[in-house]
Amino acid sequence: SGMSSAMSSGSSSASSSAASSAPAAGGTMSGKIGVILPDTKSSVRWETADRPALETAFKAAGVEYDIQNANGDKAQMQTIADQMITSGVTVLAIVNLDNESGAAIEKKAAQQGVKTIDYDRLTLGGVADYYVSYNNTKVGELQGQGLADCLGEGDKNIVFLDGSPSDSNATDFAAGAHNVLDKITSYKQVAEQAVPDWDNQQAATIFEQIFTQQGGAVDGVLAANDGLGNAVISILKKNGVTLPVTGQDATVQGLQNILDGTQCMTVYKDAKQEADALSKLAIALASGQEGSATGTVTDATGGRDVPAVLLDPKAITKENVKDVIDGGAVSAAELCTGD
Ligand code: BGC
Repeated sequence: SGMSSAMSSGSSSASSSAASSAPAAGGTMSGKIGVILPDTKSSVRWETADRPALETAFKAAGVEYDIQNANGDKAQMQTIADQMITSGVTVLAIVNLDNESGAAIEKKAAQQGVKTIDYDRLTLGGVADYYVSYNNTKVGELQGQGLADCLGEGDKNIVFLDGSPSDSNATDFAAGAHNVLDKITSYKQVAEQAVPDWDNQQAATIFEQIFTQQGGAVDGVLAANDGLGNAVISILKKNGVTLPVTGQDATVQGLQNILDGTQCMTVYKDAKQEADALSKLAIALASGQEGSATGTVTDATGGRDVPAVLLDPKAITKENVKDVIDGGAVSAAELCTGD
């Protein structure tokens, strides 16, 4: 059902009674809040976690909203942005598909007086008023530490399968993982490759090549998210091997892999928290007010500091899968129906 809703326009608005209630922060809110999600393939999170969390946050705040998915198509994302602005969106949040297309959308929106927010992915060289995300370097550090905890001491050959080169988060994830793993001198980093667009099929092909090149002498894999991790696991299974593999997003698949013992850990980034943070900032901007940021992040390309709300990610292993269930992101039943 996640996929079919992703394919439809996914447009929705709060009921008129909810929309007429005043925004919490005071001031008169004008217009709608638009959110454009990136795709359905780089991670299931966008449709299964973010969309419902955003809908809940906007409904609770009583604001009008429109959430759509660009399905991996940069031109389509620009078209959706144009249509949203025409239909009365005054604050636009995007999860960019790359920096260039994201910056173009933000600049065009700004020219029309529309405020923009980078949701989850920072648009380098963009003009977003705010950035809402998790601490991405910390995500990578948790992955690096999680892998080290699963591998233990001694000589180990590790492979890095990084996220998309077009995603500034992927750079931070890899940097965080290196912060931890570069210090463990008995570990040998035998290969590192980025996966274009976080494409899971390509990830499997890339990893299979590396695994073959290494003659199977691989002890652990730093995979940047659950989708990439699952691609690695599929190749390892084909070869009859189980190794520590990391992930991210606390997806049903990732958690099932952890419970099965084929995945070492994942990183839980509660979509509810991220959606709430976006909703608060968007409502403030739509009401002509300043949002409250917790700090700034540096966009070196644009040569500016962007006011940001950065949340705290959490490592999940077999021991604390329950935390994700308690957070309401997945149900125990969902995790137990797998293979
Ligand atoms: C997000 C991750 C996600 C990846 C692929 C990143 O920008 O932070 O949570 O797994 O994109 O969609």
